[in-house]
Amino acid sequence: MILKYVCPDYRVKSLFDISAKWLKRNGYTKIVVDIDNTLLPRDKNLVGPRAMTWIRQLHQMGINVALISNNGGDRIKGITRQTGLGTIMRAAKPLPMAYKQITKAMGGGKILFVGDQLLTDVLGAKVAGHPVVFVESLGGKEHFITRCTRKLEKFFLGRLQSNNMMPKERVL
Ligand SMILES: [Mg+2]
Repeated sequence: MILKYVCPDYRVKSLFDISAKWLKRNGYTKIVVDIDNTLLPRDKNLVGPRAMTWIRQLHQMGINVALISNNGGDRIKGITRQTGLGTIMRAAKPLPMAYKQITKAMGGGKILFVGDQLLTDVLGAKVAGHPVVFVESLGGKEHFITRCTRKLEKFFLGRLQSNNMMPKERVL
């Protein structure tokens, strides 16, 4: 059933609803976060102070954080520099290459992915066999391809909901 590949393991309103404590308690010591509209709005160039604090808190708890984006260029490079995190650019999510690269770079094991799109972030992680948190999009202006896939996403969201598969939004 294809629906299980677009079905997130957890759903939160925002990245900040994922706590370092919860990650540790559930054995997640590696987390890979989508950049655009998950970590910061797509039309902003700087990661906000709250997100920077969140990253620092995870680090302090010994959690390895990395970033992933289907975009590249100076903006993503700037975000990599600002956060000091390892970043996979032009990841071509949901295709499996980047997931193989990340798994290797992070030394394998359980990796938790976080993202705002079902058909890239959730699908890519599930196909690669990783757990994934679906966050509500920060709502920055989206790429025109994303605007198209959002229509398809709506269809899958409806199917997930009518099949009672979509996890409830919660604070982790
Ligand atoms: Mg995104």
